[in-house]
Amino acid sequence: MPGFIFKKIDAIDSQVIRRVVQLFFLGIVIIIGIKFYNFTAQLENGKIPDIERPPGVEAFLPISALVSLKYLFLTGIINEIHPSGLVFFLLVCFSTLLLKKSFCSWICPFSLLSEYLSKLNSAIFAKPLKIPVYPDYILRSIKYFIAGFFVWSIFLKMPGDAVAQFIYSPYNVISDIKMLKFFTTISVTALIVTVIIILLSVVIKNFWCRYLCPYGAVLGFISFFSAGKIRRNLDSCTECGKCDRACPSLINISDKKVVNSDECTACLKCSSVCPEQNTLKLSIISKAVIVKPIAVSLILFAIFAGGITLANVSGHWHNKITKKQYLMYMMSQGMIDKEIVIPAMRDNRRMGRMMER
Ligand code: SF4
Ligand code: SF4
Repeated sequence: MPGFIFKKIDAIDSQVIRRVVQLFFLGIVIIIGIKFYNFTAQLENGKIPDIERPPGVEAFLPISALVSLKYLFLTGIINEIHPSGLVFFLLVCFSTLLLKKSFCSWICPFSLLSEYLSKLNSAIFAKPLKIPVYPDYILRSIKYFIAGFFVWSIFLKMPGDAVAQFIYSPYNVISDIKMLKFFTTISVTALIVTVIIILLSVVIKNFWCRYLCPYGAVLGFISFFSAGKIRRNLDSCTECGKCDRACPSLINISDKKVVNSDECTACLKCSSVCPEQNTLKLSIISKAVIVKPIAVSLILFAIFAGGITLANVSGHWHNKITKKQYLMYMMSQGMIDKEIVIPAMRDNRRMGRMMER
């Protein structure tokens, strides 16, 4: 019986499995977004929220996560302001060390949006616009410059004592709320930039991920050390080129034995179109350990569910900012118009103690 079920699962197309996983994570992001919106709305009304803030929102604070990482290196402590942001970033890095940039093509909601915009491209244009090789190289380096700037500023330029100051600053404490406000009260300039990026993503497939996303750049660098890679069996390959044409990252797979490219997202589109059996597979360390599509999804679930559970149990998932402190910080940042009396000044003393550690 189990053998029959495994065969059935094995027969499911990798792209169907991947889409289910993407939509599952999109569902989680939407739930987090709604909960966090309601939490913030109550604060803006001067109320102590009667709902909890979803810690997962910190996944959208990558710069804060980088500063938290430096703080961890300097002190050995996971900070109490945005711990889940750091935990999430470390889990993404770990998944990349195992399965290339699988986070991009299996989990990231922006990548999912990018895929649908690419579908629009295929529907509109008979022949998709392809950037010539050298301009493509130059454009691809933009995301590395952006990522390099942040890494240089935080890890090389930022003095050690400024790290703690930044982490416990009112700006960083409510940076999640500021990020939400960026989208809900988007400025005209930001809206124009967003619309331009969306239009460019329709005209040029994968525009955001390929050229601009600094998160993808960091993962691209880490992915050079990834154990999992797409490997081609030179003996059975007929060099038909179907994999090359299917690859959304425009990698010439058919002239490689192992795909080392920083652009590979382990999406498995190439292996799903390969007509030759056991010729193009994602495998770990050597050709022998093949990772099937269902295994990719299970490994990713295990990494994130396991990592988050561990962080929860060890007290590194929820931050230590009380709801009253959120109100105070929002007032200090001019985000609440009303004058509110907040009696529990104990919260301030607690924050002071946290900073002294
Ligand atoms: S699709 Fe398969 S057989 Fe065709 S070139 Fe790629 S690896 Fe070789
Ligand atoms: S090489 Fe294969 S797995 Fe990697 S991005 Fe291209 S199609 Fe996806």
